[in-house]
Amino acid sequence: MEVDGSKENACLEQCASLAYPMLSCVSERGVIMRAMAVLPSRRELRIVEVAPPTLRGTGDVLVRVREVGICGTDREIGAFHYGTPAEGRESLVLGHEALGEVVEVGESVRTLERGDLVAITVRRPCADDSCLACRAGRQDFCVTGQFRERGIKKADGFMTEMIVEDERFLVKVPTRLADVGVLVEPLTIAAKASVELAAVIRRFPWEPVGLRALVLGAGPIGLLGAMMVVSRNVSATVYSREPANGDRARLVRSFGAKYVSAVDVPISHLPTKEGLFDVIFEAVGNAAVAFNALQALAPNGVCILSGVPGGSSPIEIDLNCVMRDIVLKNQMVFGTVNASRSAFEESVRLLEQFMTICPDAVRSLITERVSLDEAPELLRQPGGIKQVVAIAA
Ligand SMILES: [Zn+2]
Ligand SMILES: [Zn+2]
Repeated sequence: MEVDGSKENACLEQCASLAYPMLSCVSERGVIMRAMAVLPSRRELRIVEVAPPTLRGTGDVLVRVREVGICGTDREIGAFHYGTPAEGRESLVLGHEALGEVVEVGESVRTLERGDLVAITVRRPCADDSCLACRAGRQDFCVTGQFRERGIKKADGFMTEMIVEDERFLVKVPTRLADVGVLVEPLTIAAKASVELAAVIRRFPWEPVGLRALVLGAGPIGLLGAMMVVSRNVSATVYSREPANGDRARLVRSFGAKYVSAVDVPISHLPTKEGLFDVIFEAVGNAAVAFNALQALAPNGVCILSGVPGGSSPIEIDLNCVMRDIVLKNQMVFGTVNASRSAFEESVRLLEQFMTICPDAVRSLITERVSLDEAPELLRQPGGIKQVVAIAA
C-alpha cells in the first residue's frame, strides 16, 4: 500500500490527541483493527475499522481484549436510546465488561506485566476541581455528572482487538479465572453494594446474626448478587418471574440459594409466604417490583436498588405506607451505580471464592460466546444469562 508521508504525519498528529485514532487515517496507514461501534447520528450499529492504539504515556498499558460481556446497557446503546461518542467523534465503540491480556507496559508501570490478565474499570473522573469524589479517585460517586464511561459515555469501549489504558484503571485478574474473568465487571455491582451495606450495618452496636437476604431478579447481576450472599453464609432467596421448575431456578438452587417464582407467589404475598428479609438487593430495574417488595423488608432492614427502570409513565404505589414503614422501622433504601477500583478488587476476590464453592454454577452464567463479527446480531437478539463476545483467546 502506498502511503503519502505528509498525509500520514498530519493524520498521526491529529490522532495522537485522541485515545483512539480516527477511522479516516486508518486506511492511509494500512493498519487496521476491528471494533463494534454505534453511530448514533446515523442510527447504525456495525463493525468499523480503527487504527490500533499505542502507548501515550509511561503509565499506559496496551491490552489485548479477550472477552467482553454484553448487558442491558449495551443493548440500550445499540438501540440508540443511550450512549455518547467522544467529543468530535461520530462513533462510539461499545463494551464495558472486559477481560484482557497485557501486551506491553509503559516504563513507569509497576503492578502489571506482559501476559497478566486484567479487568478494566469503566468510569473516568471528571475534570472539576470541586468534585471531591473524583479527586479522591472515587469517580463512582462523581457529583458533577461530567465523568466519562468507556463504552457508554464520551469514551470508546472495549469491543475491539486492542485498547490502551492507564495502569490505575486496570485490575489484575488471576490466570485461573481466565474462563470466567469477564464476570468481574458485572460482579462489581454486588461487590460495591456489599461494601455499602457493611457501612450501614455498622450503625448497630451488635453483630447481626441469622440475616436473610432477598434478591429480586435472576439475571446476571441478581445471580452474582445471590452467589455473593451465599458466599457470606447469609441465607439467600431469589425472587424472579421465571418458573420454579426452570433452568434459572435450578441454577439458583445449585449454589445453595432458594428460588421463589413470581408465577407462584405474587409479590404482595411474599411476607406471608416467605417471611421478612433484612436485606433486599434489587436487580430487575422495575420500580413496581422494587417498591412493592418493601413490604417484605424487616425492621432495620436495608433495600439496595441497582436496576435502572426504563419506563416513563407513572405507576401506582402507596407511598404513605412505604414512608411510614421506612420511618417507623428504621429502614433504609439506597441506590448504587458503577464501581470503584476497590470494588473491582473485591469482585476478583469474590469470583475466586465462587470458583471454589460453585464453579459449575459460575461457568453456567456464561450462556453464549460469539465472535466480534457476530456481535451486532447478538446485541439485537437478547437471550440466555450472560452473552459474551470472544475476541482473542
Ligand atoms: Zn454492563
Ligand atoms: Zn466528578
